[in-house]
Amino acid sequence: MFFCFTFGFDNFKRRQGNRVWTCPNCSAPDVHYVKNNECFTFCFIPLIPCGSTKHLYECGTCGRVNVYAPPF
Ligand SMILES: [Zn+2]
Repeated sequence: MFFCFTFGFDNFKRRQGNRVWTCPNCSAPDVHYVKNNECFTFCFIPLIPCGSTKHLYECGTCGRVNVYAPPF
């Protein structure tokens, strides 16, 4: 029998709202407002939310992350 227990820290992103911005980097209208939570995970299950909650603007096309809202 082999049990694999893994633990660590992971980021969990959740999209907030339905507003979409245009990416200043790749011009794709695919920038979403995301809430980024850091959690302590055990066996890939988030157990304890820790660290800070960040609000970011993330582009789904090129992956560019910005803390400020794009102008468009
Ligand atoms: Zn982009």
